[in-house]
Amino acid sequence: MAKQVLVRKRVAVVGGGPKAVALAVKTKVLKALKLQDTEVVIFEKKSIGAAWEGGDGYSDGEQRLCTLAERDLGFPYKSLYGRTADAGMLNYSWQQFLVSRAQAYSAWVDAGRKPPKHKMFAHYLRWALKRAGNNPVFGKVTQVQQSGGQWSVEYEDAAGTRQTHADLFDGVVMTGPGPAKPLQVLDDAGRPATCSRIFNGEDFWRRLSEVAALIPTMGSPTFGQFDTDILIIGGGGTAAATLAWLLSNGCMSHAVQVVATRAVLHTRVDSLFENKLFSEEDTWKTLSSASQDEFFNRLNRGVVWATVIDKVSAAENLAIRDGKVDSIVVKAVNGQEQLSVTVTQGNATQIVIQPYILIDATGFDSRWFKPLLPQWPAGARDQDLEASLGDELQYVAPHWKLPLLHAPMLSKRVGPGFASLMVLGGMSDRILRAYR
Ligand SMILES: Cc1cc2nc3c(=O)[nH]c(=O)nc-3n(C[C@H](O)[C@H](O)[C@H](O)COP(=O)(O)OP(=O)(O)OC[C@H]3O[C@@H](n4cnc5c(N)ncnc54)[C@H](O)[C@@H]3O)c2cc1C
Repeated sequence: MAKQVLVRKRVAVVGGGPKAVALAVKTKVLKALKLQDTEVVIFEKKSIGAAWEGGDGYSDGEQRLCTLAERDLGFPYKSLYGRTADAGMLNYSWQQFLVSRAQAYSAWVDAGRKPPKHKMFAHYLRWALKRAGNNPVFGKVTQVQQSGGQWSVEYEDAAGTRQTHADLFDGVVMTGPGPAKPLQVLDDAGRPATCSRIFNGEDFWRRLSEVAALIPTMGSPTFGQFDTDILIIGGGGTAAATLAWLLSNGCMSHAVQVVATRAVLHTRVDSLFENKLFSEEDTWKTLSSASQDEFFNRLNRGVVWATVIDKVSAAENLAIRDGKVDSIVVKAVNGQEQLSVTVTQGNATQIVIQPYILIDATGFDSRWFKPLLPQWPAGARDQDLEASLGDELQYVAPHWKLPLLHAPMLSKRVGPGFASLMVLGGMSDRILRAYR
């Protein structure tokens, strides 16, 4: 039989998080097995696993993953490249990582196989990437431009110098949840304003020392009258994680209000039937859009993983309001910034809450990468582009006429788990098969 000739393809990944590492490791395994020759070049502006390490927003590194550690870089180990690929990926598994650290594997099992802290997860990513011999480019991608049928990638290196990568790429993968998409804050004359006591789901973790400095001043008459010590807007994982941090850091008996689209935080646990929808990719496609949305929302909106809800349940003075924020106004009262948050509650009545600390945990901008592409299709609607995302998590014609661009963070129509850590092995298979 004639030997198959592998054609070398090159893929750029913007962001050095778990998706990038899963892709880099899988290409290493496929190349060793002579199944595919794809080079993955990772561009990372800070460090590998920066979003999980602590100190760079999103986490303090001390939070635990919500999902199981066994949902690692190769999960669900049902590769479309076959069992040899799965066996190869086991060399980069969470267990292998622990075995590489003295006593760590038995300690993890003895302690009940808990999900790792974010910081440890970042170590795992760095270990796997190093083991795969992949050398990332450290720089902030500033532009991704079509060049013939390929992409050219521009970035700013650590010294702030603009560089164009010497190679052209057959495809680009955009990763990361994007920056926080904060609600607008106005002054009493309707102009955009800021307030040092407002935090969001990203900068809360970067500004922990500011939060910590505010906590002892809460409730002090010197700082004026407030309806509530802390108001958190949002009812998802980010809101719960910030709340859990506050409760563990001196706010257990402080007045905390959460405004969310539901007045209840439901508990998310590992369930066979939900998990099966993540790992059985074909079943997802048979659901109607309405069922997909219902499933997705039920798992993401107003739902908090059991590990976090345990901490949150300990709050002594917590109220959850069903409502939507209409406006946030900041004005000076007796030399002090006063925040007024107008909320329309579920029953259509309006209330105004004046918190001391405000945390806007409403979400992130997962389309953050659009400004990087000067040739982004003008006039194409995001909903149309995302509804027609292809099986390889890529934008497709007729809306898309540029080279391959994969957006796993926006791929809920293709599968429920490709945006998260649920099936990193499935996500990497999907993207890489476009380059076979
Ligand atoms: C705090 C938090 C906890 C989460 N926990 C879980 C969980 O437990 N389980 C789960 O399934 N899902 C979780 N998610 C949701 C989701 O899984 C993650 O957001 C997602 O997997 C992140 O992985 P990633 O590889 O896409 O990106 P990230 O790990 O976020 O990496 C993106 C990287 O891109 C870099 N970057 C950004 N812009 C540029 C640029 N212009 N040039 C170069 N580099 C750039 C950043 O520095 C960052 O390192 C969590 C999300 C958050 C925010």
